[in-house]
Amino acid sequence: MKITFCGAARQVTGSMHLLSLDNGYKILLDCGMDYELKRNPIETQNIFPFNPTDIDAVILTHAHVDHSGNLPALVQQGFSGHIFCTPATADLTEFLLYDSANIQMGNYKKNLNAAKKNRRHLIPKPLYAAKQVKETVQRFYTLNFNSPFQFNDFVEITLLEAGHLLGAASIKIEWGENGAKKSLGFTGDLGRKNSKLVCNPTVMQDLNYLVAECTYGGRNHKPSKNAEDELLSYVLSTCVDIRGRLVIPAFSVGRTQSIVFALHQLKQRGLLPDIKIFVDSPLALRSTGVYEKHLNLLNDEAKTFHSTHGKLFEFENLHYIDGIKAHDDLLNYSDPCIIISSAGMVEGGRIQEHVSNNIENPYSTILIAGFCAEGTLGHSLLQGKQSIYINKKEKRIKARIASTDVFSSHPGSDEIFEYITATSNKNKSSAIETKIFLVHGEESQMSLMQNRLFEIGLMQVEMPYQGQEYKL
Ligand SMILES: [Zn+2]
Repeated sequence: MKITFCGAARQVTGSMHLLSLDNGYKILLDCGMDYELKRNPIETQNIFPFNPTDIDAVILTHAHVDHSGNLPALVQQGFSGHIFCTPATADLTEFLLYDSANIQMGNYKKNLNAAKKNRRHLIPKPLYAAKQVKETVQRFYTLNFNSPFQFNDFVEITLLEAGHLLGAASIKIEWGENGAKKSLGFTGDLGRKNSKLVCNPTVMQDLNYLVAECTYGGRNHKPSKNAEDELLSYVLSTCVDIRGRLVIPAFSVGRTQSIVFALHQLKQRGLLPDIKIFVDSPLALRSTGVYEKHLNLLNDEAKTFHSTHGKLFEFENLHYIDGIKAHDDLLNYSDPCIIISSAGMVEGGRIQEHVSNNIENPYSTILIAGFCAEGTLGHSLLQGKQSIYINKKEKRIKARIASTDVFSSHPGSDEIFEYITATSNKNKSSAIETKIFLVHGEESQMSLMQNRLFEIGLMQVEMPYQGQEYKL
């Protein structure tokens, strides 16, 4: 067996790792879109460092596009196997991939018009369209958590709760080689303990190899009150004290549901002021339906709230915006309100218009509620600049720009460290020391984690480069 790190190597996005068995069988772990590509590929053929027809199966950890977003391109280029994932991941991924196809087509049309004006000829084409998404979702083969599945004569896989998003899994792969059994764990994206809605991550045990996400690397989350109280402080200081608008960029899948649930909890406690709350994202609306369909996967807090109040994501004053007309109307809504919209890193989507609309208003607050990769508009907003370019227009920053970690769905440095050390066989009775590969993190952050692990004597910690291959 060997592993090749094809994406999210020394960077955060584009999760994709290839396992090649000695008999030639090939399994791809995730097939995510790379948002950090310096230049969009002109041809889709450029995006895979292998022949898609050679891949026998894909195991998908979760629905986020940086893990799933290149699946339709893989199918288009000849992949004909199954895509293994949990039922909730299958449902969420379907919506996200259709959305991704739409965004790409929209960007293509915009670029085409600009290229005609500038007489440029080479512009990136969409990687895929709705047709390829339809073919992709037909390849899903769903597995429940904690149910070992015999892949073939050589390999068994088990999906375990990752606690990052509804249905998100870590993958344990076990295989036999020369009479000995070996195992590799891939965390996928991990969640935090006691998150809103989702269960705590399951720590994988007895591994020869661990591929671990390292999004927060050396950074810890700011210590904070509980999520509802933190959110309430922004609602009150913006919408009540100065009668302004609170704009929250949030991923449509996961983050939005956590925030809406926290607002619902505040509402039930009688703490929420009488203002309107808008969720301006058709994708969030559809994903919320998937959360309701898979209530059995939610944590005890959410289940108890549901059995008491009947609904998790519906309450008075909460409005989901679907069509473009309602979205345009919202842009002209000037009363104090909360607007939750995507994308979370403020790259594209309806949120850009809301940020643009509010950024020069000193009565507005833009509350960044999640991780923003370098190079994204969300990241720029947090740099304390005087002005910023949105859709090629310069805007003075007069709104309050704030950030909160309380809804983060990734573990901070201490939590990753704790996870990795709990997983590692070092200091246990096992004779084998777990070899650790850090992925899905900025290089500087991963180095900090690598050093922390070296300091406690875990010396087999690698930070693979893109395309690097290891014999397992
Ligand atoms: Zn994720």
